[in-house]
Amino acid sequence: MSTARAAAVAGAAARRELDALLISDLVNLRWLTGFSGSSGAAVVGAGADGARSFVTDFRYRTQVVDQLDRSWTTAIASDPLAGVAAAVTELVAALGGGKLRVGFDDGTLTVRAHARLVELLPETAVLEPAGGVLEALRAVKEAGELTAIRAAAELADAAFTQVVQRGLVGRTEQAVALDLEVTMRNLGAQGSSFAPIVAAGAHGALPHASPRDVPIAPDTLVVIDWGAQLDGYASDCTRTLATGNLDPEAREVYEVVLRAQEAALAAVRPGPTGREVDAVARDLIDAAGHGEHFGHGLGHGVGLEVHEAPRLSKLGEDSLVAGNVVTVEPGVYLPGVVGVRIEDLVVVTEDGHDVLSGLSKDLTVV
Ligand code: ZN
Ligand code: ZN
Repeated sequence: MSTARAAAVAGAAARRELDALLISDLVNLRWLTGFSGSSGAAVVGAGADGARSFVTDFRYRTQVVDQLDRSWTTAIASDPLAGVAAAVTELVAALGGGKLRVGFDDGTLTVRAHARLVELLPETAVLEPAGGVLEALRAVKEAGELTAIRAAAELADAAFTQVVQRGLVGRTEQAVALDLEVTMRNLGAQGSSFAPIVAAGAHGALPHASPRDVPIAPDTLVVIDWGAQLDGYASDCTRTLATGNLDPEAREVYEVVLRAQEAALAAVRPGPTGREVDAVARDLIDAAGHGEHFGHGLGHGVGLEVHEAPRLSKLGEDSLVAGNVVTVEPGVYLPGVVGVRIEDLVVVTEDGHDVLSGLSKDLTVV
């Protein structure tokens, strides 16, 4: 696994006319090497037989041997960045003259770390901004990754069902959020993929509401957005539930969001760009007179991180391809009144899509 991924990274570096790529982001390192520690850096030389160097600190001396396969040359250094600089210096020496173009992730490497690398590297090693190389590869999931994400989604569904069976009215938003977190842990999750959102009534009109120490009232809507972390992979889902009788406005908003969600979901397949799928939901919500109440993008990729490539929004330029895992989550938020969001997690397949969220989207009264 790690070997194939390193080869893909080496190929992507070569296509960008880089001689080597420096990887410092921990999630990218985990995807690339299997290493799950909190400190490390790697250098991948371009080309099939390029360098594969990984450096971590002494706390992970044993772990690095367990987790990385033998294709990696591993080293221990108190400062992994200095360690990879040494590896790059060896590449420069092996080159015997000429410039070595070394890509780095300008999206995550700090300004301070960059300055330090410039100090440590020989003058003939030139740092080139090369963000997004691993993120683009990570956006297309392998079968094993899909299995892990599916399992995380199923676990999150099971936890939600248990929590909702215990009722909503009279419990605080915080109590329900905590119940979701504890239930997911009890079912085997490593944790939540993000702090759950439980937002009732007008509070649900804040797309990223923090759960309050306030009891959930009857006869309103409750937005619940949660996900599980399992085997390193995340899930993400939102359901909006009713706690009794709804006024016509809340009911209408729910119907609009559900129609938009199902139409956008139906458009998920290889081919369209993120922007085109976003537009399917956005046009329906616009036509219903709620365009200004849908201020966020339609969805995002999910994998090792709960927000990753590709994005489904007005800014989504990339076409969907088989193996992408994305959310489809339109929402309508009426400030001071009510909010509705409905979110499914979905895999793009060769001929369409496969929804990983198994919970009903019919308006459910709890
Ligand atoms: Zn979500
Ligand atoms: Zn989401």
